[in-house]
Amino acid sequence: MQRDILIVGAGIFGASIAFHLARAGLGERVLLLERGQPAGGATSRAAALLTQVRDDPALIALVQETFRAIATLEDEFAEDVGRRTVGALHAGPATQADALRAIAAHAARFGIAGEWLEGDAARTAVSRRAPWLAPEQAACAVFFPDECFVEPYLLSTAYQRAAGQLGVKLRLDSDVCAIRHADGQTQSVELTDGTLLPASIVINAAGAWANLLSVPLGLPLPMAPVRSQYWISEPAECFPRDGAIVLLPEIRAYARPEVGALLFGVREKTPVAADPRTLPADLAGFVFDPDDAEGWNNLAEGADYLLPYFPRLESLGIAHYITGPSNYTPDGRLILGRHPDIGGLFVATGCNGNGIAFSGGVGRFIADLVCDRPGFLPADLAAGFAPARVGQFDPFSPEFLNACAATRSKKRSG
Ligand SMILES: Cc1cc2nc3c(=O)[nH]c(=O)nc-3n(C[C@H](O)[C@H](O)[C@H](O)COP(=O)(O)OP(=O)(O)OC[C@H]3O[C@@H](n4cnc5c(N)ncnc54)[C@H](O)[C@@H]3O)c2cc1C
Repeated sequence: MQRDILIVGAGIFGASIAFHLARAGLGERVLLLERGQPAGGATSRAAALLTQVRDDPALIALVQETFRAIATLEDEFAEDVGRRTVGALHAGPATQADALRAIAAHAARFGIAGEWLEGDAARTAVSRRAPWLAPEQAACAVFFPDECFVEPYLLSTAYQRAAGQLGVKLRLDSDVCAIRHADGQTQSVELTDGTLLPASIVINAAGAWANLLSVPLGLPLPMAPVRSQYWISEPAECFPRDGAIVLLPEIRAYARPEVGALLFGVREKTPVAADPRTLPADLAGFVFDPDDAEGWNNLAEGADYLLPYFPRLESLGIAHYITGPSNYTPDGRLILGRHPDIGGLFVATGCNGNGIAFSGGVGRFIADLVCDRPGFLPADLAAGFAPARVGQFDPFSPEFLNACAATRSKKRSG
């Protein structure tokens, strides 16, 4: 049988979409196209926090779908995605009590179990779950026991393997240069080696490169690749292996255990966006700022915020610096849905630095659309993700790139 549903990009979005289409019974029709290594783009670089507690109800629903998808991968496909359910501690000094209580109340409205901690209870929780945290900066906290992190490469390839068991085929060395259409309908995908693959449905899940395929189709996507980054310390006794994820809303910082060390990120004074036309296909060795390739200037800036919370940072060695592109949108919303004028053409991108956490929801969202079945999100929430919501604009202009970078500086954490 001719495979007529083509997905461009085997990052975590493409892999999850393939899995969800296969679960809907379409596996034999799906071909997943990748030009490099599956999960070799942004996906393998992620810190991969899976946190449900978010301001936006639509985003909470997406993450909750990811939890469901992981349970299915573990229970029905015997996959190990490296899930570590260590819980997340949202903490701050006493001045942050009202803000933290508001987070606890908001989470409770969405059925997310959380425990309010202050005084001795906060001190005990911090010394047990995050002894590196200065106690006076964690005078109050909310602990969400079900939050977790995963190994992003394992989760992405688990979606892909499970999709394979259900009939999906992966085609490597497939560098898509154009999506062809005629009479308002998707017709085929063209590869750089000249191969033409017929298609009635194409899903653009090409990550930071998605605009290179979408702009020629008259649909500029409102997003740009913005530098994401974090650091991993040297191991130390103050980082328990079963320590919690820590979110510090006041300084927009996050941390999680990393085999006896600490992985952490912090609010950036100067987020940087790149013109996607300048991004190499292979991200190995790519840095946004060649003058600060190892991230030391950024760490020094972030340390101003971080040191009061994390005094050991001053004397601690840094073992690794990880950086890569995440697609930020000026309104902070994903880009999920149909091309408004070309039948059979769909887009799934605009992760805003949280695509691992959103992956299950993204896969289900697109599978619902392709199968023409009712979506799992209320229509008004789903409409916020519409790819054409901004209309015509230049997604490569410096002003637009700056607007996308600004979204990262407003990002709360996680
Ligand atoms: C440093 C860092 C930390 C992060 N931390 C977190 C976190 O804690 N939690 C979280 O949820 N998210 C996190 N993220 C974000 C997360 O990694 C991304 O949201 C997610 O990986 C996006 O997946 P994707 O499939 O859209 O993109 P990608 O993984 O980049 O996949 C896109 C794929 O498309 C392929 N492709 C592109 N163009 C073509 C073409 N023309 N033809 C064929 N193939 C093509 C690419 O080769 C690539 O494999 C982080 C990201 C970074 C960089």
